[in-house]
Amino acid sequence: MKTDFYFYSPVKVHVEVEPIKVISKFLRDIESVGVISGKKSIVKTGFKDFLINSFKDKDIFFFDEVEENPSINTIIKGGRFLRENRCKAVISFGGGSAIDAGKACAIFAENNIPFYELLASERYNLPLPVLAIPTTCGTGSEVNQYSIITDIEKRDKINFSKSDSFPKDALLFSEYLKSLDEKILIATVFDAFTHAFEGFIATSSNPFTDTLAMEVMKIIIKNLQNYIDGKFLNLPELHYASSVAGIVIGHTGTTLLHALGYYLTNHHKIHHGEANALLLPSFLTLCRKQNLEKLNLVDRIMKDFRLEIEDAVKSIFNNRLADILSHDEFENMVDYALNKPNVLKTPFTVNRDYILDSLTLS
Ligand code: NAP
Ligand code: FE
Repeated sequence: MKTDFYFYSPVKVHVEVEPIKVISKFLRDIESVGVISGKKSIVKTGFKDFLINSFKDKDIFFFDEVEENPSINTIIKGGRFLRENRCKAVISFGGGSAIDAGKACAIFAENNIPFYELLASERYNLPLPVLAIPTTCGTGSEVNQYSIITDIEKRDKINFSKSDSFPKDALLFSEYLKSLDEKILIATVFDAFTHAFEGFIATSSNPFTDTLAMEVMKIIIKNLQNYIDGKFLNLPELHYASSVAGIVIGHTGTTLLHALGYYLTNHHKIHHGEANALLLPSFLTLCRKQNLEKLNLVDRIMKDFRLEIEDAVKSIFNNRLADILSHDEFENMVDYALNKPNVLKTPFTVNRDYILDSLTLS
């Protein structure tokens, strides 16, 4: 067995508990709270009205300006908003964009310094405590320390990560997934699958994360098989799987696949989960060529549930990589990905010519 590894998962995750219970406890000694979100989910789920009506004794400040793939400017602005309103805690509500943003704003609220300076700094004031409530089932941001923030000028996604950036609490309440557009819901399920798959094969994987990753892949493949057969998706199960996958990547990080996907989002505004899904068949082929031993275990799960994940991608998404990228751009995408730290977690030598030859656009 591998030696020299750790497992650390400090977030208290409340699963399918009534929100009133979790939020009352989180705000027990807090008078003033900032709620970080985008514009849609907080209204469509009824969460904003629920908070206003249920917590009349608290000062609640809403910052609903988080866009998909949140930018550095938004984080700085949200941090200032929390500071100026003297918020003592943060509720991050929404998809991975809102939760990543909420976690980052919570640290910028307490550290009034430029983005890259705080990114590079090892000494900083502790962030405000965060309660994260995910309304998608893909990123697992509610249980890890990462905030993926976009530098718009450089067209780059930066992983802003501090060891103190874990939320204090997370609430999985799958009712909140019901207002999500089906296309985004499925895209986020694929994001969670890639977290489990990449975490499983990553050089940084360990026996704890392997066990969790296998569990996630089983749940997701079973649900995708049901979905393709026209049966229902089990939302509580998918919410849970997404969080477990978030714990996996909190330890392992992601690999070349995620780095390639970032390019599709940065340059073509493809949703993060869909970007990963579109690249997955080609990335799997690449892994198969490397005869990765762990792939046998993934293949076994697919066999057990009679689903090839490559076929699932093709039957669910109309988009094809070849419709999005020209050959020249394909090279740009590979060059971008090769410069991301994710390469170090990829379980084979990532050589430019080999990747260009082996990855395909179809
Ligand atoms: P998202 O960008 O948070 O949300 C996608 C869209 O769905 C937004 O327009 C959002 O609107 C809407 N939405 C979300 N929940 C909804 C609901 N219940 N009802 C109606 N609309 C809803 O998507 P995501 O896939 O969850 O997050 C992607 C981001 O997470 C990317 O920036 C990615 O890089 C990052 N990420 C982070 C990690 C991590 O470990 N921290 C891992 C993977 C990806 P509103 O925002 O207006 O509500
Ligand atoms: Fe992801």
